[in-house]
Amino acid sequence: MKSLPADTYVEGVRAGDRALLARAITLVESEHPRHAALAQEVLTRLLPHTGKSKRVGISGVPGVGKSTFIDALGMHLAGNGHRVAVLAIDPSSSVSGGSILGDKTRMARLAREPLAYIRPSPSSGTLGGVARKTRETLLLCEAAGFDVVLVETVGVGQSETVVADMVDFYLVLMLAGAGDELQGIKRGILEVADMVAINKADGDNAPRAMQARAQYRAALHLMRPGAEPVVTTCSAMEGTGIDTLWASVESVVAQREASGELARRRTQQQVGWMWAMVHDGLRAALRAHPEVSALIPALEQDVREGRATPTTAALRVLGAFLPQTQA
Ligand code: GDP
Repeated sequence: MKSLPADTYVEGVRAGDRALLARAITLVESEHPRHAALAQEVLTRLLPHTGKSKRVGISGVPGVGKSTFIDALGMHLAGNGHRVAVLAIDPSSSVSGGSILGDKTRMARLAREPLAYIRPSPSSGTLGGVARKTRETLLLCEAAGFDVVLVETVGVGQSETVVADMVDFYLVLMLAGAGDELQGIKRGILEVADMVAINKADGDNAPRAMQARAQYRAALHLMRPGAEPVVTTCSAMEGTGIDTLWASVESVVAQREASGELARRRTQQQVGWMWAMVHDGLRAALRAHPEVSALIPALEQDVREGRATPTTAALRVLGAFLPQTQA
């Protein structure tokens, strides 16, 4: 990719130019060291124009209706004059090489909506690398004037924590199961959720969705007393429940804004991002270190076969990596 002058990206993004926004995102997604400094310069200059959107994470297992839901919610928001960006974090895409999320064809109406912008998941790198790219893309979208940013992910691996760490509000879509709603629930996801929405509350499924809602409310009351997330139902397909759902999102975010919690959360996230990148960088440097790489096979073997304790082996790795320190 041939890069442009920093001014071109900055002015283009500020003007809301789609083509330049896309090129700026490609720049921050680039793994090329030559692009990294330019990307950071562009981001630093745009930073004063970021932070003005509502950042909402949306997660749920494949098939729960995420793309149908985002299509419906996005159209509802655009109908009210909001400018909506849809980003995605798909941890499987780094393995499969293709992204299953944020795919435009899955959000047919929104993809044609002039007030919306859909960007698929970055498809290469570690989860940490993918997270960095999505966070920086989120900032670019804000600088381009999008006032709602939806970040989609599947509920696998660590992706939900990564998304929770970059949004103001976290929405989890669920289905009413065959009486086993409260089993097989991923506790982790319910611990970070600000809202649980039971989707496909339509037709014959509507009564079961209502039942599931009551069960989730009871379970969350026990699990997170005092901080219970909103539990609601919707039908992404029929478009019902979406308006009240969004009204709750807005009301919770407005409360957090008024109490200062939102600002605190974002500040913590910024510092957390910094440390996540320091840790990723250290890990990468460790892997790339020639003496460490030379040591590792034999050391691992020693640990496996009981000739060395894990502690001794770890100290040797650190000693080779940081010879100046008494690790
Ligand atoms: P995703 O994998 O989470 O993105 O789920 P999709 O949005 O692709 O939806 C999976 C399937 O569920 C599709 O066949 C949708 O048409 C269907 N679906 C999505 N939302 C609803 C809903 O609210 N009600 C019903 N009955 N079906 C839905």
